[in-house]
Amino acid sequence: MAKHFNQKEYQIQYRKKNKEKIAAYNKIYGKKHYLLKGKAKKDNNIASWEGYFPEIIKCEVCGVETFFNKKNLIRSVNFDHRTNKEVIKGSPNRWLLAHPRTLENQRIWESCSFGKLCLKCNRVLPTTNREGWIQKMLKYVSSY
Ligand SMILES: [Zn+2]
Repeated sequence: MAKHFNQKEYQIQYRKKNKEKIAAYNKIYGKKHYLLKGKAKKDNNIASWEGYFPEIIKCEVCGVETFFNKKNLIRSVNFDHRTNKEVIKGSPNRWLLAHPRTLENQRIWESCSFGKLCLKCNRVLPTTNREGWIQKMLKYVSSY
């Protein structure tokens, strides 16, 4: 009686025999390679915007100093959708990561006129009905 072909066993044996070949292939085509390549592209994109923004960006609400592209999240500038009519709908930072600084991209960015806030001010501002929310806050803090 002929022995049945066991695919799983064959794969295990194949991997054992070809460890180096598989590692070399993964180095070129593996997931890690693409992740690193993607990260390098994002790093290059964001770096291309350095110099476009002032070195120190004051929060438009509280005046605290923030910085563009600082690894420290607390000190980083937060770009804020002022009107929700901006062409860039999602996260402005994510857009900057995905788009190198070109004249066209600069024009798109400038058409948005994002607010520049510190983390704290950006966090307390809701996305919608901001004025109503602030009025409620004012009512609350002046009620005692
Ligand atoms: Zn602030």
